[in-house]
Amino acid sequence: MVGAAAGTAVWAAADGAAGSPPRVSIGTGKAPHTLPKLPYADNALDPVISSNTIGFHYGKHHQTYITNLNNLVKDKPDLSAMTLEEVVKASAGDPAKAGLFNNAAQVWNHTFYWHSMKPGGGGQPSGKIKARIDSDLGGYDKFKADFAAAATTQFGSGWAWLIEDAGKLAIVKSGNAETPMAQGKKCLLTIDVWEHAYYLDWQNRRADYIAAFLDKLVNWEFAEKNLG
Ligand code: MN
Repeated sequence: MVGAAAGTAVWAAADGAAGSPPRVSIGTGKAPHTLPKLPYADNALDPVISSNTIGFHYGKHHQTYITNLNNLVKDKPDLSAMTLEEVVKASAGDPAKAGLFNNAAQVWNHTFYWHSMKPGGGGQPSGKIKARIDSDLGGYDKFKADFAAAATTQFGSGWAWLIEDAGKLAIVKSGNAETPMAQGKKCLLTIDVWEHAYYLDWQNRRADYIAAFLDKLVNWEFAEKNLG
């Protein structure tokens, strides 16, 4: 086991508890922010993502963003009163708040990433998300190629995303901590392509990590819940 398994506040409604909105809620917790429980065992994504990677990525990197965020909002009543999502949106695009944005957005992005995967996931979706991929993105094969291309060509650290923008699905990439959520886009799915996400398991083979993510890990139920 890695990290503290305490916090439920960051994704309080992730399981669609009674009374919660149908869309998965991530980022509704307020300070002090806590490391959310992983939605699976730390070796559940092996061999695509090993427990060793989870130990550093979740147990160290994600935790450090949370620790940094809590230090940045400490003794600041306006920031402490905001949800994580509100902190991200309030600090986005402001160079004077870059440290706050980077840490807050990385807390949100990582929580979203852990939920974007599940053991035995990946492959073609079904149901509503399949229909939308067919109508908006030209079908699963084209989605897969375009998502992999976005993730592969993100230069340096960053993320690739499946989002809904103005009522239509879209694939976008973002650098460093940047997140479509900050611009009010509806995020459905993400992959972390920072080297810390894959280097212990795949070294320089980012494209192989991305292909394995698509074939074996994608949590389509999560994407469909986010679609609402
Ligand atoms: Mn990461």
